[in-house]
Amino acid sequence: MNNDLASVVRSKVDIVDIIGERIPLVARGKNFFGVCPFHDDNNPSMSVSREKQIYTCFSCHATGNVFTFLMNYEHMEFREVLKYLGDRVGVDVGNITIPKKSTKFDKFYDAYNFSLKYFQNNLMSKAGIEAKKYLQTRKFTDDMIKEFEVGLSLDSRDDLTNLLLKKDYDLSVLNRIGLSSDNHDIYNDRIMFPLYDVSGKCVGFSGRIYKDNGQNKYLNTKETDIFKKGEMLYHYHVAREECRLKKSVIVMEGFMDVIRASSIGIKNTVALMGTALTKEQTNLIKRLSNNIIMCLDGDDAGVHATLSIGDQLLNEGIEVKVVALPNPDDPDSYILNNGKDKFIGLVENALNFSDFKMMKLRENVNFSSDEEKANYINEVLKETVKIDDPIRVEVVLKRLAKEFDIGYNTLEMRFNGYKKDQVKTEKIIIPKEVKVVRKSKYMKAVEQILYYMLNNDWVISQVEREHLILPNEESRILCSEIIYYYKNYGDINVADFYTYVQDKEMVVDFLNGILASNYNSDTTKEELFEYFNVVRDYAKTQEIKRLTNLMKKEVDPIEQAKISEKIRKLRIGE
Ligand code: ATP
Ligand code: MN
Repeated sequence: MNNDLASVVRSKVDIVDIIGERIPLVARGKNFFGVCPFHDDNNPSMSVSREKQIYTCFSCHATGNVFTFLMNYEHMEFREVLKYLGDRVGVDVGNITIPKKSTKFDKFYDAYNFSLKYFQNNLMSKAGIEAKKYLQTRKFTDDMIKEFEVGLSLDSRDDLTNLLLKKDYDLSVLNRIGLSSDNHDIYNDRIMFPLYDVSGKCVGFSGRIYKDNGQNKYLNTKETDIFKKGEMLYHYHVAREECRLKKSVIVMEGFMDVIRASSIGIKNTVALMGTALTKEQTNLIKRLSNNIIMCLDGDDAGVHATLSIGDQLLNEGIEVKVVALPNPDDPDSYILNNGKDKFIGLVENALNFSDFKMMKLRENVNFSSDEEKANYINEVLKETVKIDDPIRVEVVLKRLAKEFDIGYNTLEMRFNGYKKDQVKTEKIIIPKEVKVVRKSKYMKAVEQILYYMLNNDWVISQVEREHLILPNEESRILCSEIIYYYKNYGDINVADFYTYVQDKEMVVDFLNGILASNYNSDTTKEELFEYFNVVRDYAKTQEIKRLTNLMKKEVDPIEQAKISEKIRKLRIGE
C-alpha cells in the first residue's frame, strides 16, 4: 500500500476541519466534541483530537483517523478518500493502485457489472431501435443514456442467464442475486436503469416497459445481499459532492425525475424510488445536507407522502422545505413543460414545511361555516406549536389574528395550551446505558503499555529493551505492528498508524478498544514498569496453571518431578 503518500495527504489536512464540516463540533479543553454519527445518539460522545488527529467515540468505540472517518461517514473507499483529500490539499495522488479490498460479494458485483454492459450493448444494437425511439419520445439524449448507463433487456427469456452460466456462475447464485429465476432471465424486453449503492456500485436494476403490453410499469430487483432498497437512495454517490457545493439536497420520488434534473445541471438530487422513507435513508439524507428540499410528485399521492415524510422529519427535529408542483406534474414533466428557469425558481422559493402544511389544511375548508373556521384555526395552532423559531410563531399568530379578526391574546393563550400538551406528550428520552466492560487489571496494563507505545517513542524502546512478551495473541500482534512501523518510519503517530493497519480487522478492533478507553495522555517510567510487572505476573500465573495441569495428566513420575521443579522455580522467580 502507498502508505507514504497517504501520510503526506493526511498530514496536510486537519481532522477537526473535515469532521467539523460534517457534524457540529464544540471545543472543550484540548479536544473537540460532537454527536457521534456512527450510532444512534443525541449526546456529544465523539471526541476529536487535533493533536493526535484521531476521533474516538466513548459510547460505540468508533475510532480512527481522517481516512476511516470519511470511509465510514461518506461510504467511500480508501482510494476515493485519498483522491478527495489529495484534491483538497493539492497533492497529486495520480492513478494510485491500491489493491481493492476483496469482499465475499465481489462475484455478485461482477455479475451486475457484466449485466450492465450487456444491457447497454443491447440498447445500441439493432434490437434496441424501438426502445431508443421510446427514449427519444421521452427526450432522453445520448448523453443522458450514457451517463445513467441505460440499457435494454431482450425479449428472449434466457440470454443473460446463459451468458452468466458460461461465465461459471451457478444458477443458485443467479437466483439469489436477483438476475434469474427458474433458469430464466428476470427482465424481458424492458429498458434497464441500473441502481447503485451508496458507493456507486451497480447492485440492481429497475426495468421499465416501453410498449403498452399491460405489464407493471417498473420491475425492480428483489432484496438481496447487496441490494437493500431501504438503505439506498438513487444518485447518492453523485449527489454527495454536489450537495456540499450547492449546500442543499433535493429529494424526489423517481429516478426519472433525478435524471431529468441532472440533464439541466441540477445534480444535488436523490430519489426515494417510491414514497416511503426509512430511518437509514433519513440518515443518508441528513449526511448530504441539512438543507433538505422535498420535491415529490404533484399528485395526491405525492402531497400525501410530502406531509407524512415532512412530519416524520419534523419529529426528528429537521424542518424541510417543500416544492409544491402543480397536480399532476412530477419534476420530470414539470421541467420538460416549463423549462429549467421556472423549475429553479420553484426550488429557490420552496416553502417551509409548516407553511406547506398550513396551505394544505386550508384547501377544503368552508370558511363560511364558523365551526369549520374554528377547527381550521385550532389545527393551525397545533401545527404552529411544532415550529421552533419564536419569530415565525409570532408571524403566524399575527396573520391569523388579522385574517380572522380574533384577538392576538386569545390565539396566544390557546397556542400556549397546546404547547403545554406537547411538552407533556413529548417522549422522555432515557439515555442509553453505556455498556461498561470490566477489564481485568492485567488487560488494563496491556492496553496501557500499547497505548503509550503509540504515543511515545521511549516506551517502544523500553518494551524492546525489556523483552516484554504480551501473553495474548491480539496484543502481541498489535505490539509487533507498532514496533515494525516505528522501525520503518522512524517515528510513531496514531493517525498514520491507523492507515497502516486499516486492513487488519483484528488489530483495528483491538486498537479501537484501547483508544476509546480514555487513558491519561502521559505516563512515567515508574508507572510503565508497574504495568510490565502486572503483565509478567499474569504470564507467570498462566504458565504455572498450564504446568500444573500438565503435571496432573503426566503418568511418568520422573517427568512429573521435572515439571514440579519448573513450577517451583517459576514460583520463586528464577
Ligand atoms: P415514469 O415517468 O417513467 O412513469 P416516474 O418517475 O414518473 O416514471 P412513478 O410512477 O412516479 O414513476 O414512480 C416513482 C418511483 O417509484 C419509480 O422511480 C420507481 O422506482 C418506483 N416505482 C413505481 N412503480 C413501481 C412498481 N410497479 N414497482 C416497483 N417500483 C415502482
Ligand atoms: Mn414521470
